[in-house]
Amino acid sequence: MTPVEHADGSYDVIVVGSSFSATFFLHRYLERNPGRQRILVLEKGPFRDSGWQIEHQRPADHPAHVYYEKAGAHSFNWVFSVGFGGGSNCWVGNTPRFTPNDMRLKSLYGVGRDWPISYEEIEPYFTQTEAIMEISGPSRPYWPQSKPYPLPAHKVSDADRLMMQASPEFHMEAPTARASRDTATRPACCANGVCSICPIGAKFTVLNSMMAPYEDPRVSVMVNAEVHSIDMAGGQARGVTFLHNGREKRVQGDLVVLAANSIFNPVIMMRSGLESPALGRYLHCQLAFTAEILLDGVDHFNGSSLLGCHNFSQYDGAFRSERGSMVIETHNMGRLRVEEGRWRQVMPVFMKVEEIPQLENRVVLPEESGGKPIAEFSGFTPYARKTYDMAHDLLAQAFAPLPVEGIEVAPILGSSTHVHGTTVMGDDPTDSVLDRDLIDHRVRNLVVLGAGAFPNGAQVNPTLMLSSLALRTADRLSASQV
Ligand SMILES: Cc1cc2nc3c(=O)[nH]c(=O)nc-3n(C[C@H](O)[C@H](O)[C@H](O)COP(=O)(O)OP(=O)(O)OC[C@H]3O[C@@H](n4cnc5c(N)ncnc54)[C@H](O)[C@@H]3O)c2cc1C
Ligand code: SF4
Repeated sequence: MTPVEHADGSYDVIVVGSSFSATFFLHRYLERNPGRQRILVLEKGPFRDSGWQIEHQRPADHPAHVYYEKAGAHSFNWVFSVGFGGGSNCWVGNTPRFTPNDMRLKSLYGVGRDWPISYEEIEPYFTQTEAIMEISGPSRPYWPQSKPYPLPAHKVSDADRLMMQASPEFHMEAPTARASRDTATRPACCANGVCSICPIGAKFTVLNSMMAPYEDPRVSVMVNAEVHSIDMAGGQARGVTFLHNGREKRVQGDLVVLAANSIFNPVIMMRSGLESPALGRYLHCQLAFTAEILLDGVDHFNGSSLLGCHNFSQYDGAFRSERGSMVIETHNMGRLRVEEGRWRQVMPVFMKVEEIPQLENRVVLPEESGGKPIAEFSGFTPYARKTYDMAHDLLAQAFAPLPVEGIEVAPILGSSTHVHGTTVMGDDPTDSVLDRDLIDHRVRNLVVLGAGAFPNGAQVNPTLMLSSLALRTADRLSASQV
């Protein structure tokens, strides 16, 4: 790919961002629209290849906190990566699915919201995303799945194997974009656990596996091009205003696709004068914490990747009307024990608890133009905290099949790499920004991709879902054009 220095005239599509959302959208849009199209991709950050990332020991030029200010009662850090390929460079590649019940929380448990689309509608797109990312996954997953995973699951540790034997319906190998064997584009994962800059390219990234849309002759890519706002006229998006290497520029476009994540998408929309009662609101993430399960006579750590298994024993049930669902990940990286001969008799676990999005948590524009966006967060609700307060007992139940000597639960983490909400999808324009196809309710040639659309951010990782939604949106748009 050779980034362009000049953008001129008018484009059929302008795409803002170059990470999962943008790339999966482009992949499908180009497939479905084989005719002559002019597509411009504007990416705020520079192009940093994996050599640069390893040499500098970081996935991007700057940490996320450089790009926004924090406000509200809870000083919380929202983590993401700015640059070509975005979060695909720094993510660690965990790809569990949302389950059918995650998408109908209100109907089943009377809390939160239902999604405007069902599991059955998104399921075919999960399988397509899993095929593109070449996911290694379990043969008997926790969710309904119409096609098996493309790659076999990773090898699990002795402790995980015992858990799988005792609790096969709840404890299974974690699906992941870290290859379990060599593929055409990626080598097998070697389990060194520094996945945010995977040194051997075993983890799926846009750079190592999905550059085709950016090399397509219909697509021009401009890096160091920060979109400021959408140019609006007559209730339609007409193009965008952006800064390229510090100079203000404008381009026209028939369709504008924002894929700049849950912090920047609403900011671009607010700067464009767009209004919606839900715009910028319902910013949320999972409540996350770690723990150590101390084992008596059983070894851990001999799995073949960063993560071993998922445990879903605390995931679903009537309790979700009162407290959040919890997913448990077992990790193959972590502190060893110090007792002679018992070094590996400990299992590090990572928990994510479902939260109900709150109206007051939001992204707002700064008072001064040119200032940074502000992320306001008032803290986790009693719904998520109640599950955390019960963590010791819930973990004891989950790991009952093992000889457990002790459980040490750590404090709640003060940051999240999963940023959900701010451009929520729904059927009611008074309480959502986007329709079920991720098109703005009011501006019908504006598409807004990413986890911003999530009405509730469940407890599993978001990227499989948001990439699948991007494929679906490109399909829906293409179908409506024929
Ligand atoms: C350390 C870490 C580990 C993670 N691990 C996992 C995991 O294991 N599993 C999982 O599911 N998720 C994981 N995530 C989350 C995952 O990275 C995000 O869900 C995903 O990257 C979101 O994709 P996106 O395309 O919507 O947005 P992003 O990846 O955030 O990309 C947004 C893009 O837009 C660009 N941009 C921003 N503003 C502008 C602008 N104004 N103009 C032009 N371009 C702009 C950015 O530079 C970037 O390229 C992890 C995140 C982090 C930080
Ligand atoms: S565990 Fe190592 S090889 Fe595997 S994806 Fe992570 S960094 Fe890459």
